[in-house]
Amino acid sequence: MEKTKCLIIGSGPAGYTAAIYASRANLSPILYEGIEPGGQLTTTTEIENFPGYPEGITGKAMMDDLKRQAQRFGADVRFGIVTDLQTDVRPFVATIDGEKQIAADAVIVATGASAKYLGLESEAKFRGMGVSACATCDGFFYRKQCVAVVGGGDTACEEATYLASICKKVYLIVRKPFLRASKAMQERVFATENIEVLFEYNTVEVLGDEDGVTGVLIRHTSGEQKQLDITGFFLAIGHHPNTELFKGKLELDEQGYIVTTPGTSRTSVEGIFAAGDVKDPHYRQAITAAGSGCIAALDCERYLLSK
Ligand code: NDP
Repeated sequence: MEKTKCLIIGSGPAGYTAAIYASRANLSPILYEGIEPGGQLTTTTEIENFPGYPEGITGKAMMDDLKRQAQRFGADVRFGIVTDLQTDVRPFVATIDGEKQIAADAVIVATGASAKYLGLESEAKFRGMGVSACATCDGFFYRKQCVAVVGGGDTACEEATYLASICKKVYLIVRKPFLRASKAMQERVFATENIEVLFEYNTVEVLGDEDGVTGVLIRHTSGEQKQLDITGFFLAIGHHPNTELFKGKLELDEQGYIVTTPGTSRTSVEGIFAAGDVKDPHYRQAITAAGSGCIAALDCERYLLSK
C-alpha cells in the first residue's frame, strides 16, 4: 500500500495553503482534490477582498495559482475523491474513489462546506450571472442596483444589511411569518430603510436573459404572486459542511462541523487536523480558510516531529 506522511483532503484555499506549508516542511504531502477541484471559489466570479490582489482576481485563477504554488514545493496534487477514512488504525488508511488505498501518518481535512440552493432550474441557469450564495464575495458587483436575499437566519440578515449599504434596494424573501435570526440582527434589518422584508414568500422562478438575472417571481402563502425587478439574487439559506465521511469518526457539532480544540486545528482524533469551512460556520472567507490551512500544516508538522 502506498504510504504518505501527510494526506490532505480538499483543494480549496485551506487545503492548498496546508499543502504549501506541509511541502515546505518536507512532509511530501499528497492532496486529493475531491468532488469540486478548487472548491467553492471556483464558482464565484471576481475576488476583490483577498489581500495581495489590488486589481482582483477570478476565483478560478486564484485556485490555479494556489495549486501551482503547492506543486512548486513538491505537493503531490491528485484528482480523486477520498471515499473512506479509517481513523481507528495507525497509520490512518484512506480509500480513494472506492478502490485504491493509501496509508497516512497524519491527515488534514479541508473538505469545505457547500452553500444550500433552492434547487430551481432557473436558479442553476443563472448561477454566476446574478445568482450567488455569497454576498460578501459578489455583492459589490450590484452596487446601486436592486437585489434580493432569500433566508431568515443570521446570514440572510447580515448579508441583507451588508448589501443595503452598497445597493439601492434589498428585498429579503422569508418563507415564514418571522425571522429566525437573533434579535440584534433583526433589529438592524428593520432599522435599515432600503431593506424590505417580504414574509411568507417563496421563490417560484429566477428570471433573466443572456446578460443575467432581471427579476424574480415570488409567491405568497395566500397564493398571490408578484415579480421583483432585481439584478442580483442571493441565497442565504445555510451551508452544509462536507463531513459525511467523518460521521462517527471525528467529533462533529450539532450542525455537522468538525470540532477542533480552540485556537488549534486538532480534531478529536490525534493526528487528524481540520482546516477551513469544514470547521468554521462563522467566517467562511478565503483568507480565513487559507490561514487555518497554515495552522493545520504547522500543527501537523509538530505532531509528526513529536512521534
Ligand atoms: P440558518 O439555518 O440559521 O437559517 C437558514 C434560513 O434559511 C432560515 O430562515 C430558513 O427558514 C431559511 N431556509 C432554509 N431553507 C430554505 C428554503 N428552501 N427556502 C427558503 N428559505 C429557506 O442558517 P444561517 O446561515 O443563517 O446561520 C447558520 C449559523 O451561523 C447559525 O447558527 C447562525 O446563528 C450563525 N451565524 C451567526 C452570525 C453572527 O452571529 N454574526 C452570522 C451568520 C451566521 P426557516 O426559518 O423557515 O427554517
